[in-house]
Amino acid sequence: MVKKSISLKDILNLWVSQKKDTNHISIDELYDFLNQNVSLERRAEIMEHLIRCSVCSKKLKELMEAEEKANAMDVVFLKAAATFKPEWPIRVQTEGGKYIVTISPHEEEPERGLITVEVDRYWTRQIEGRPIVVRDGNKRELLRGTVINGKVAGKLDKLSDIELNGIIIEQG
Ligand SMILES: [Zn+2]
Repeated sequence: MVKKSISLKDILNLWVSQKKDTNHISIDELYDFLNQNVSLERRAEIMEHLIRCSVCSKKLKELMEAEEKANAMDVVFLKAAATFKPEWPIRVQTEGGKYIVTISPHEEEPERGLITVEVDRYWTRQIEGRPIVVRDGNKRELLRGTVINGKVAGKLDKLSDIELNGIIIEQG
């Protein structure tokens, strides 16, 4: 009979696998935790878990980074009917209320036009002087520029190709 010895590595593996089997914090709860939407008692438990758990603290860090990125973005969602056949000129406010996007075609050349992004008055101080990038729902870049006097404007072509639903404005 061969004597089977347990190596230190086996013990370590066992220990690690048992450690892994703790109840991780769900993304939803981490999100609530970030936004101070959990009870004080639960908050203390989560913090204690985060100190011990590299998996969850990494998730939290990623969530914080994603949230920061999302805060620097705003988006236009249109109703299905509006995306099907837009009526020009189009003037829409982004979901977060930060920007008003206007696209107006040239009178003689309807495929060419002008895009203007105006920063809502409430956000002017925060966004003034910053670069922004505007992309349509297909990620086509529509405009890139620095906000001056609450505005950025530029020329556009191929207006009928623009996917208006899902226009994203990102602070660069
Ligand atoms: Zn965890």
